[in-house]
Amino acid sequence: MKIFFAFVSLTLTIMGKDKPNLIVIMTDDMGYADVGFNGCKDIPTPHIDSIASNGIRFTSGYVAYSVCGPSRAAFMTGRYGQRFGFERNPQYRTQDENMGLPSSEDTIASALGKVGYYSGVIGKWHLGATKKHHPLKRGFQEFYGHLGGGHQYMPEMLNIEDSYAAKDEAQSYRTWILKGHKPVPPRKYLTDDFSDEAVSFVERNHNKPFFLFLSYNAPHTPLQAPQKYLDRFRDLKDKKRKTYAAMVSAVDDGVGRVLASLKKKQINQNTIVFFLSDNGGPTTKNGSNNGPLRGNKGDAWEGGWRVPFAVQWPLGFPRGQKYDHPVISLDIMATIAASAEAPISADRPLDGVNLIPFLTGKNEGPPHQGIFLRKFDSGSTAVRSGNHKLVTYRKKTFSGLYDLRDDIGEARNIRLESPEEVNRLEMLWQDWNKSNIDPIFKGLIHTPAWLKKRSQATRKKSKTGNK
Ligand code: CA
Repeated sequence: MKIFFAFVSLTLTIMGKDKPNLIVIMTDDMGYADVGFNGCKDIPTPHIDSIASNGIRFTSGYVAYSVCGPSRAAFMTGRYGQRFGFERNPQYRTQDENMGLPSSEDTIASALGKVGYYSGVIGKWHLGATKKHHPLKRGFQEFYGHLGGGHQYMPEMLNIEDSYAAKDEAQSYRTWILKGHKPVPPRKYLTDDFSDEAVSFVERNHNKPFFLFLSYNAPHTPLQAPQKYLDRFRDLKDKKRKTYAAMVSAVDDGVGRVLASLKKKQINQNTIVFFLSDNGGPTTKNGSNNGPLRGNKGDAWEGGWRVPFAVQWPLGFPRGQKYDHPVISLDIMATIAASAEAPISADRPLDGVNLIPFLTGKNEGPPHQGIFLRKFDSGSTAVRSGNHKLVTYRKKTFSGLYDLRDDIGEARNIRLESPEEVNRLEMLWQDWNKSNIDPIFKGLIHTPAWLKKRSQATRKKSKTGNK
């Protein structure tokens, strides 16, 4: 009997070890063309690129929304945020328990927790700023980061000790970093601080299956970088691009250190590492570059939600491949849930797809019939299916069909040439939209500060004669 139990326990240990670790490294507002593997020339990103060269780069990798909060809510649940009303960037409200990710939704961490994973978030949260929404209440065992949508990077700028005392989004940028529930005094340049913590996480938890969400707020504004990183870009004349480049370079250093820690702890082979941005680059704001893609952060055009996206898993995926069928951030949860045999609630079906059969060549078809976007407030929508994409700006009654294989920049509207394809894509979108609900909370765009900024921008535009 003793031997039997020893055998069972040994088997369980091995099974436990066999489950792959998951690290998701997410940058904030990084452009499609701001990594070497997508052709970036002026910012070297050797460590980020190594994920693509040791694994797979996705040429059509999407997120589920073209701004931060809803994109992250969808990634974190494996479901489109429109399914549960998370369709706006939340306001920073520390008492409003409706303003964030509903507790009815499972997260990657809560699903993996059921099969013995240990999970941590390092960096930006942005899924609700109340104590109810705190990462430690959402399936994570560790949190080192900030609750709002962005942050000041320099330690001397962090002068609000208590995160729950910050009254709005602007103040939330200046809070101390939370370690679990405890504010800790500012230590160093925030990106480096998060990288330190990520290395520490790997070193402390390498002997059990883990999920680390390394959620850099860089290179989101404010544009701030220490001289050490700026010095790497002496030849870049554009000041905005230069600081942006320095911020991306700091992230790349951090990625390199995390990857090195996996090797040092000999868990590199069975760790799945995804890299992606949470939405496309807001090019005029932070100096990012979406390359050939049309549009920016916030748009239904490709520049809004097609992002730099790569994965490595030495034990499970081929090396040095590119994958052209569209994939989406929602697939991360479906993939890890399948490989870790984590249970998924039947009443909250995943919108993502387990990518393993597709990336290993067992299934050569596309993982998705369609990839969808709906922006409730602007009334814009998009659906990508095969090489085609249908974009509509409903409030402006505009509709465009594009063949992205020949026209990645969405320059030639072929709607009138292909009415049947327009109809097919429209039907796909309508079918997807049937299970969606209206937003359950007002967004950042409804705050007085935001409305003021917008009316100032409109006044400025009308003065200069721009439309
Ligand atoms: Ca973002």
